[in-house]
Formats: sequence, C-alpha cells, structure tokens
Amino acid sequence: MTPPTAAPPLPAGGIAQVPDVHGRFGRFGGRYVPETLSAALDQLTAAYEEARADPAFQAELDQLLAAFVGRPTPLLFAKRLTDYAGGAQIWLKREDLGHTGAHKINNTLGQALLAIRMGKSRIIAETGAGQHGVATATACARFGLDCVVYMGSEDVRRQEPNVRSMKMMGAEVRPVESGSRTLRDAINEAMRDWMGSVETTHYIIGSVVGPHPFPRIVRDFQSVIGRETLAFCRKEIGRDPDCVVACVGGGSNAAGMFYPLVEHASIRLVGVEAGGRSGRPGDHAASLSFGSPGILHGSLSYVLQDGDGQTADVHSVSAGLDYPGVGPEHAWWHDTKRVEYTSVTDTAALAAFDLVARREGILPALETSHALAWAVEEAARRPASEHIVVCLSGRGEKDAAEIARLRAAAGGGHG
Ligand SMILES: *Cc1c(COP(=O)(O)O)cnc(C)c1O
Repeated sequence: MTPPTAAPPLPAGGIAQVPDVHGRFGRFGGRYVPETLSAALDQLTAAYEEARADPAFQAELDQLLAAFVGRPTPLLFAKRLTDYAGGAQIWLKREDLGHTGAHKINNTLGQALLAIRMGKSRIIAETGAGQHGVATATACARFGLDCVVYMGSEDVRRQEPNVRSMKMMGAEVRPVESGSRTLRDAINEAMRDWMGSVETTHYIIGSVVGPHPFPRIVRDFQSVIGRETLAFCRKEIGRDPDCVVACVGGGSNAAGMFYPLVEHASIRLVGVEAGGRSGRPGDHAASLSFGSPGILHGSLSYVLQDGDGQTADVHSVSAGLDYPGVGPEHAWWHDTKRVEYTSVTDTAALAAFDLVARREGILPALETSHALAWAVEEAARRPASEHIVVCLSGRGEKDAAEIARLRAAAGGGHG
C-alpha cells in the first residue's frame, strides 16, 4: 500500500469551501470519464447551480422531506447503551425512521427533482444492498419517472426483499452477471447504460462517489442530517456534541453528517469503515485505512487495489459497506486530518447489533452497527460530561435473515 503524501494546503475559504470548479477536493475528485458523459455532467452541474439558487426548488424538496420522508428525524438519547458503556452520553440520529428506512431517500428525492428540471424522464441507478435501489424506485414512483436499477446478480440473490419492493413500485431490476456480480459491477453497467442514453436519462448515483458533480450534489442533499443534528444538540444538550460518528461505505451518510460540522473545530469527527475478517487484502472494505490513491468510477480517491492498479476484491458482512472505493471528499478530510477514519470487524459489528437490539429495542442496519461498535467502546473511555452522536444510518430488519444464516452456519449463538 502507498503511504499518503503530504496533506494538500487548505483552500483560502476553509475546509468546507471545496470542491473547486473542477470538482477537486484538494487533489482528489475531478472527472475521469469518456467524452460522451462530459456534456451530461456539465448539464447536471449547471442544472444543480440553478436549482440551488432557486428558492422554489428548496421549498419543494423541504416539503417532500417533511411530509414524504418524515423529517426532521429525531435525536434519541440511548440511555441503556450509555449505562452499559459507563462513560460518555450516547445519542442516536434516527435516519432509520425516515421513509424507506435509511438516509438514501434524502439524495434520491433531490436528484429526481433535478432530473425533472433537466427534462429527463428515465432514471437509472446502481444498488448493492438494495437500499439505494428502493429509495430510487420510491422517488420514481412518486414522480412518475421510468426506473431501471442495476444490481449484481449475487446481490439480487442476497437481497431478495429489496428486489421485490423495487419491482412493486414499478422499477425494472437488471441483474449484472459480470465481474464479482456485486456493487462495483452494477456501477460499471449503469455507467455503460448512461453513455448510450444521456439524452433522456439521468443517473442517480447512490453515494458521494463518481465523477464531478456527483460527490458534491449527494453530500449537499445528505447535509440535512448534520444540520438537524447540530440544531437538536443545541436544543436538547444545550451545546455542540463532543464527537460525531458515522459508518463509511461510499461515504454519503458520513459526508451528510460531517459536512455541516467540519468548520466547528471543537467537534471530533470519526468515520468507521468495514474491517471485515482481517486487514489482509480481500478480507475487508476499508479504503481509507488500507487503500492508496487511484481512479475508480470517474474520480480520484483512496481505492483498494493491487500493485498493478487492479481494483481489489472486498469483503464485509454488510453489503452496504462492501465497496473498494470511497468518496473523494473523505480522502481530502483524511489527508487534511479533519476527520479520523478507523475500521471495525464483522464480529464487532455483529456484537454491536445484538447489544443495541437488546438494550435499546432498535435493530440497526449492519452498516450502522460498525459505527455503533466504535461509539460504545469510545464512550467507555470518555467522561460522563461528554456527548457522542452516532448517525443511525438505517434500520436492520433487512439484515435479520442474513444474521440468522450466519449464526446457523457458525453453529450456535442465539440467532
Ligand atoms: C447504503 C448504506 C450505507 C453505506 O453508504 P454510505 O454512502 O457510506 O452512507 C450505510 N448505512 C445504510 C443503512 C445504508 O443503506
């Protein structure tokens, strides 16, 4: 693995001012795509700038976030989890309570509105665990847009309930048979579709990854999480939190949580990646912890790759973290040391899932369980005067069958 080079200089406007006009976060990000996509990405950039300046756009999105998603999502004090840790106070930002059960919907509604502004009536998306596919199918049904979701055939098999939901809302699910038949192959296939269909089609990418302007747009749509968190903390705790934690797959729930906080230097920000079975290549999906700079899906960021630059195989117990790259803004926050990144193993995440289920009456997503595992350990080391907020990115009902299967295969447990 290549060690990161020296931290890039901070831009004059501060860490929250990036990306620049080329979509660069320091040296990361940018746009590495075939010519055919450049025009569509320019069109998207222009449409987004216009929409941002249009109060009617924000008003329509806010209205949907309130009445359709159920925002603002609450900030819950996790009393019995806090008692268990015996240290800092643990709070949960309840993205699991939003419509469709995860944060993904914040982004798909925003991008669907952008597609309508651009006069595009067909939507494509990729999905791994199926959460982004469901959130995209939901937005498309709401607005009457055609919807095609690319999904690795291995994931189609593993995530059957989500596949059924997408179809019920009128989406077409196209299984992808190439490569490892998982998320990164689904993104390749969606990009290929888009190259032949850009005139009529908008690609709703599901995380803060991909070519400029996607990382910025997705981060902005998810930033409602961090803004609400700050407001709730000031109201309910009476001050800013000491530490905020989120799991990192592509990095959208974490970016949405962190971005409104990065200029608040007193708040410690921690991103938790999938540590999988071990730190050996192929055994995890921790791109910032173990990867090196490279280009994946149209942008420069930390990537898990072999010595020849071939994207590595990845593993995580949670399908939503099982991705060999990470959003470029996280690479920038990593190198500027504004955010700490760490990883949590499959085993620790599963234990945290049990703990939160039994002590709080909440089944957290396996993705989220990684952040919870770190938060509980850290809370035990911190004084009771401190407050830790965990982004509870989604609900775990989708994972119940897989967890039961793993327990049965391991020949025990209490599944
Ligand atoms: C998709 C997903 C993630 C991982 O994606 P990010 O872009 O890193 O947020 C995490 N949690 C849940 C519940 C998800 O559905």
